[in-house]
Amino acid sequence: MSESTARTELKGIGVSAGTASGPIALVTPAVGIDQHEPASVDPESDGVRVREALEGVAASLRSRAEHANSETSKAVLEATATLATDKGLIKGIDKELKKGSGVTKAIHDAVETYAAKLRKLGGYMAERVTDLYDIRDRATARVRNLPEPGIPDLTEPSILIAEDLAPAETATLDPESVSGIITEAGGATSHTAILAAQLGIPAAVQVKGIAEAVVNQPQVALDGGTGKVIVAPDASDVSELEARSRRRAELLADSAGEGATRDGHKVKLLANIGTAEDARKAAKFDLEGSGLFRTEFLFLDRDAAPSVEEQTETYIKVLQAFGQRRVVVRTLDAGADKPLSFADLGPEENPALGRRGLRLSMERVDLIDQQLEALAAAHQAVEGADLWVMAPMVSTIEETEWFAERARSYGLPQIGVMVETPAAAILSEQILTVADFASIGTNDLSQYTMAADRMQGELAGLLSPWQPAVLRMIQATAQGGEHNGKPIGVCGEAGGDPLVALVLAGLGVSSLSMAPAKVSAVRATLRLHDLETCRDMADLAIKAPTASQAREAALELADPIIRDLVS
Ligand code: PEP
Ligand code: MG
Repeated sequence: MSESTARTELKGIGVSAGTASGPIALVTPAVGIDQHEPASVDPESDGVRVREALEGVAASLRSRAEHANSETSKAVLEATATLATDKGLIKGIDKELKKGSGVTKAIHDAVETYAAKLRKLGGYMAERVTDLYDIRDRATARVRNLPEPGIPDLTEPSILIAEDLAPAETATLDPESVSGIITEAGGATSHTAILAAQLGIPAAVQVKGIAEAVVNQPQVALDGGTGKVIVAPDASDVSELEARSRRRAELLADSAGEGATRDGHKVKLLANIGTAEDARKAAKFDLEGSGLFRTEFLFLDRDAAPSVEEQTETYIKVLQAFGQRRVVVRTLDAGADKPLSFADLGPEENPALGRRGLRLSMERVDLIDQQLEALAAAHQAVEGADLWVMAPMVSTIEETEWFAERARSYGLPQIGVMVETPAAAILSEQILTVADFASIGTNDLSQYTMAADRMQGELAGLLSPWQPAVLRMIQATAQGGEHNGKPIGVCGEAGGDPLVALVLAGLGVSSLSMAPAKVSAVRATLRLHDLETCRDMADLAIKAPTASQAREAALELADPIIRDLVS
């Protein structure tokens, strides 16, 4: 039934502002073992099929290498192509086929054995495990006569459509060739959404029905602020989106300088970063430092913890990038949706409620000690650096004391904690007698306050920072800070939403950290309102019985001009 130009409007959640329209690029999911395949009765001819598939994989990787836009990706693709026809790997598959395994099971089992060997070798060889899995998934798709998984080669700027994207996949996207991201699943505070905003790529998640709607459609348009998606847009859709973008740009054009309300009440505007490269890019923006350096992103996809020297080098780069501007480094927050193979404490029923964040550091003291040592060395090395260090997932005073004592023993100057659990929010007055500062991680604070998995996009309504229960947690934290005269920041995604930012300022939050691309909208919004209005907004939002009423109440008091900045 789908005519070639069936215009369809869909609504998801906007997670990275900006608009885009253009050709569609479908991201194909990996298919896995064929559960219905027969056992191998002719290992020799099955071996030929597997060889053909692997050679096909190698050839396609080589041709991608030829067109790669950087020397690094060219080298990576060529090395992966060579691994695809590695004799040891093929021998291993033959062995599995001879044992009677079906073709796709033989590939998977042989790859697993090979991966274990590479892991044992450690270092560079261990890092090749990811490439090996990529080869496995591509070869499996080929023998099953299905399209190869992953992001297709893009010959022109395109909008990616996917069921979901893994954080590691998103991190490698090139904003030059990916002009937008639309996912059927995913959550507003998932790490994939966070990375999209970090890269400044307009994105919407939870766009139900998008996969079906784009069948046979070449074009799509997207508003990453509102979450509106139009399949087969017409000329007026595109010009309306462009007009909204223009109005937004005008509003942001003279947004510059320190963050402050109209009457001069300062609210520091900071960047969330994950790598030294992010730091270098973020430092070029007009912002006041970094309020969250997610150090675990340095370690994703690695089989061994980086050495103290390597970490020191990275931290030095980050501190140098920001000069005398504040840099808040969060110690390793591994676990839950950011598992690290070298920091794995074994399977858990509920990883988000398990030994993640500081809990993991308290078990793997070696890892936190190395990190604190490297941070202290970097702090010594960069003159004038304003380094603050904080721990993730804190819920007790004892944990705060444990971390603060340890970090101070390395001579680190400003020690804080993240407030990501209701326990920490409620105890903030006591916690802040020990810690020098706190930063509210609204992504996890919403998850744990509302008992709603942040990875589960269907629960987006419960995860909204407008939920009165979440606002009350933030209020409790801010009051704890005020009582002790200690600064409270927000570094979860809520801080980058201009309207929420006004309420946060009204509640007493003194710094907001977000994807650099979001800073100018938040600054422009703050500048249009005085502190008294922010306080009134906070007051009304806190008293509102529902999340949507809280948002409406705040919007009512806001200058109507900001409607093009908010979703
Ligand atoms: C948060 O939970 O809000 C936060 C900033 O940490 P992360 O998103 O990395 O869990
Ligand atoms: Mg968190």
